[in-house]
Amino acid sequence: MGTTFVYDFAAGGKDQSLLLGGKGANLAEMTNLGLPVPPGFTITTEACRAYLATGDLPSGLAEELDAHLAALESTMERRLGDPADPLLVSVRSGAPFSMPGMMETVLNVGLTDASVEGLAASAGGDEGAYRFAWDSYRRLIQMFGRTVCDVPAEAFAEPGADLDADGLRALVASYKKSFEQHTGTAFPQDPREQLDLAIRAVFRSWNADRAVLYRRQERIPDDIGTAVNIVAMVFGNLGENSGTGVAFTRDPATGQRGAYGDYLPDAQGEDVVAGIRNTLTLDDLRERDPASYARLIEIMSVLEGHYRDLCDIEFTIERGRLWMLQTRVGKRTAAAAFVIAAQLVDEGVIDLDEALRRVSGAQLSRLMFPTFDLDAAPEPLATGVAAAPGAAVGAAVFDPHRAAALAAQGRDVILVRRETMPDDLPGMIAARGILTSRGGKTSHAAVVARGMGRTCVCGAEALRVEADRFTVGDLVINEGDVISIDGTSGAVYAGAVPVRESDVARALTGTGDSDDAVVVAVRRLLTHADARRRLGVRANADTPDDAARARQLGAQGIGLCRTEHMFLGDRRQVVERLVLATDDEARNAALAELLPLQREDFAGILRAMDGHPVTIRLLDPPLHEFLPSLEDLAVRVALAAERGEHAGHDEELLAAVRRMHEQNPMLGLRGVRLGLVVPGLFAMQVRAVAEAAAALSAAGGDPRPELMVPLVGAVQELEAVRAEALDVLRLVAKETGVEVDAAIGTMIEVPRAALTAGDIAGAAEFFSFGTNDLTQMGWGFSRDDVEGSFFSRYLDLGIFGVSPFESIDRAGVGRLVRIAVEEGRASRPDLHIGVCGEHGGDPDSIHFFHEVGVDYVSCSPFRVPVARLEAARAAV
Ligand code: ADP
Ligand code: MG
Ligand code: MG
Repeated sequence: MGTTFVYDFAAGGKDQSLLLGGKGANLAEMTNLGLPVPPGFTITTEACRAYLATGDLPSGLAEELDAHLAALESTMERRLGDPADPLLVSVRSGAPFSMPGMMETVLNVGLTDASVEGLAASAGGDEGAYRFAWDSYRRLIQMFGRTVCDVPAEAFAEPGADLDADGLRALVASYKKSFEQHTGTAFPQDPREQLDLAIRAVFRSWNADRAVLYRRQERIPDDIGTAVNIVAMVFGNLGENSGTGVAFTRDPATGQRGAYGDYLPDAQGEDVVAGIRNTLTLDDLRERDPASYARLIEIMSVLEGHYRDLCDIEFTIERGRLWMLQTRVGKRTAAAAFVIAAQLVDEGVIDLDEALRRVSGAQLSRLMFPTFDLDAAPEPLATGVAAAPGAAVGAAVFDPHRAAALAAQGRDVILVRRETMPDDLPGMIAARGILTSRGGKTSHAAVVARGMGRTCVCGAEALRVEADRFTVGDLVINEGDVISIDGTSGAVYAGAVPVRESDVARALTGTGDSDDAVVVAVRRLLTHADARRRLGVRANADTPDDAARARQLGAQGIGLCRTEHMFLGDRRQVVERLVLATDDEARNAALAELLPLQREDFAGILRAMDGHPVTIRLLDPPLHEFLPSLEDLAVRVALAAERGEHAGHDEELLAAVRRMHEQNPMLGLRGVRLGLVVPGLFAMQVRAVAEAAAALSAAGGDPRPELMVPLVGAVQELEAVRAEALDVLRLVAKETGVEVDAAIGTMIEVPRAALTAGDIAGAAEFFSFGTNDLTQMGWGFSRDDVEGSFFSRYLDLGIFGVSPFESIDRAGVGRLVRIAVEEGRASRPDLHIGVCGEHGGDPDSIHFFHEVGVDYVSCSPFRVPVARLEAARAAV
């Protein structure tokens, strides 16, 4: 027996959408539920794949088609295109994943110069019947021409609203002429030829440009193909007691209970969504045709009961008789998703675990972003990369220190830079939003902004950013001028576009509660998520404020407290002295100055996270990042020399900056290497942590610091730092009389660390995967450079479907993670393992970390609720 390529509706079911497409599978399901579906059959996606591969229909398909068509004709007691009383069919695309409007459908197949008369006669033979028949015929020529033969849409002028039968007949004549002009052949008069050509065209529409683009956006694989449904036509264009409509069993925008839909009398197919005429509501339908309305409501409740979810449907009423043409579990907004899931739990239809499966972290994060009121927005000035979502309004400021100063005075500012650098951090922290003219989703600005929950638009290339203003064409925005940036769309506006913080964000951060249905549903599902998840969720937070906010949002600790920003600002000069020190005395003096400042930093965070673990990462970035730029210094020194002055300090600095210059700083002197090269640096940090913790303990607190060593690649590195740290801890315990219990662990972010995890676990009480660096070094991609250069090409080529910096590359980087988890635990069974890279807040990655047995993920505070939800979704 060969493969079966054609299935009658009665032979399929809703779980066969991969074979029959979503439309076909659900038409089959409705048929088997006894609902009024016009008879028909489905040609499988497998036939489509064969056709696309060979350019020809697979052998055997023609015979199967003949048999199913004959069966359909005998059920309908009509023959396809019979001049006396024709059977007409629709030829409808239907892919396994919904691709709304992306592919093609041809209605009224079977109409010819001969059968159009028969159709009119069988519809009653009066003026109305002729109007209907000629209207159907002109639609066929139009759809067939466009879809099957690529005739441009403009070739067929839309008919005026009030054409009578003769007018429509004349229109058909002119359409046929256009068709012939564009294709060089007459409109086919053989119904079976029409059918065959339409089927091939639907297959081909799988590869239409817009379909390909849509799949890329939605990450739908390219090699699935579409099914084709052949459905006996029913007619909504048979006069005022006929019509066509779409409906939802609940409101897809808000989730509110109750049917919701649009109806158009005397219309066919796409007329409703095409917006040609104003549609009526379902209430209007109830008045016009109470019986069909009642039947429709009854069917919708059958469908909801059966699919246990919101369904959307397409229906047609032919002379008072209701027909179902499509249903599927309907798309909905993020807000509606939560509301409906909670409603269905209340209605006893699903349980809370199922409700978790019905919502997603991506939807939750959408609900948390502030939004612009787009109705009130002007035209954007420019559009860049939507790098970190949110809606930010503020005064444009071009210097990070000015930005910090203005913010300290209570101004809302947007930091505008060509690109950002680590040194800009104070300004980035202070700003409402960050706008750059260069770089993409993984640029410094974008990564930092996402980490901090700041709104960011980057790479807005239309902007010319200067020292204290930017221009777009003739328009100039000076420092202090208000602009608005939309991190969800990438749009940049002049002036203040009105924004609103979302109710969900206000509720979850504790700044305002609401008994709004969305807020209630989100809370309820998060509570259940916390009960169901195995993964812990911590936050990446560097300041007491962020730590407090993280707690509000449900973080169970801090998984990554970076210390680099603690070395910036006023402290730069001290750090400069530390870097420039050539002897122990100068170095120790600088460290002694930093110690009390660091102690205060750590005390603040440990206090905000009292009773919860705080993983403090020892200093990571290359030291030269704390020094002024080589170019600036060189210019200053040269200018001084020109004036005949001695540049003293600057000259010294310049020499040091030159000395420390690295070609590849990210692969250079940073992390543990720095700690081993600059004597006393890590010891000072450990001491600051220990003293802060001892003081808090003595005062009755419950500080739980953990010390994390960055960039370890060999156990020997960690052993050296560990020995030094243990000495300091012992010493502080002796001095203060308080025993501080601080676990010492390491980041796993250098591939070698992952591959020697068994050894490294010998010196580490915990691991934390730094998946950003692990990805960067695993692929050999410089995170700061890839975006502008080759990533978009890689995405186009399908080398990866999504940037590996956004979502963990399971096969490669993920394999390193797996190895490190297994070998680390094999050598130390109680090894505690977390993730602190950006992937810790990415839904897909969270599912992966759950699978490989990591203990917790850590992400930016704002993503904590998303991570709680996704961790539970991975577990149920
Ligand atoms: P899409 O997937 O773009 O919605 P469809 O295949 O559902 O395309 O068809 C387009 C329109 O034609 C829909 O409104 C549908 O209800 C209508 N339609 C399809 N088949 C028939 C049919 N056999 N009888 C009447 N209307 C039909
Ligand atoms: Mg449809
Ligand atoms: Mg790192």
